[in-house]
Amino acid sequence: MEAQLTALEPDTPFSFSCRPEVSCFTECCRNLNQFLTPYDLIRLKTRMGVTSREFLDKYTIVFIGPETGLPVAVLEPVGSDSRCPFVSSEGCAVYSDRPASCRTYPLVRLLSRNKDTGALSERYFIHRESHCRGFDTQTQQTLDTWVKDQELAVYNEMNDPLMDIIALKNRYYKGPLNTSIKDLFKLCCYDIDTFRERLFQKSGDKFIESVAPELAEQAEHDDIALLKIGFERVKTALLEHRRES
Ligand code: SF4
Ligand code: SF4
Repeated sequence: MEAQLTALEPDTPFSFSCRPEVSCFTECCRNLNQFLTPYDLIRLKTRMGVTSREFLDKYTIVFIGPETGLPVAVLEPVGSDSRCPFVSSEGCAVYSDRPASCRTYPLVRLLSRNKDTGALSERYFIHRESHCRGFDTQTQQTLDTWVKDQELAVYNEMNDPLMDIIALKNRYYKGPLNTSIKDLFKLCCYDIDTFRERLFQKSGDKFIESVAPELAEQAEHDDIALLKIGFERVKTALLEHRRES
């Protein structure tokens, strides 16, 4: 399958539309290699009405990312065509809660941090694959319309803090993570319902004492607030390890 990446400038239009009429409809939901961010998982487990633990057990495989050294959750493919567990003949059965990369495709978003200012900047690329007929349509898009139509802003906002975790891991933690930090990452970033139970147990994680009271109160019932605490919990553990080494 041939693929080509081309930088996309904000004002440059491109032709693309994905709809049931295209001959390749749902083809990209097969031979699956679908990464899930922590926010993707919150959206999907809420959509399916299950706990994070149930979702992880039923729909995912978690392994250690070869590039980041951090645990990565992927959707577990089903059937002989390795399709997504959520694809049907009508399309995506979880469309309004589909993962960030399904929304972004056929674009790819690359994020980088300025070493001097610390500011994050993003660049988008068009990922043109030969099997994708969406480019044959006459529907004109721009980066702005795509980001808006796919409701990417909230996904980007919730996924960008992972950059800081990856940077800390790379800077202070050479080689594989020890088991306790790997388990902590899985707990705080993926198994968020169990994280909540442990965080708010009387004999549980003392980290809650360092969290702003309003955020802590919100996190008792709000997964987004809880995930923000989870990201900080992982970053603190990585920094603690640095101080110990
Ligand atoms: S979540 Fe939806 S869009 Fe994404 S791979 Fe699965 S079926 Fe396709
Ligand atoms: S291959 Fe392209 S056009 Fe076909 S379903 Fe996937 S995104 Fe849509």
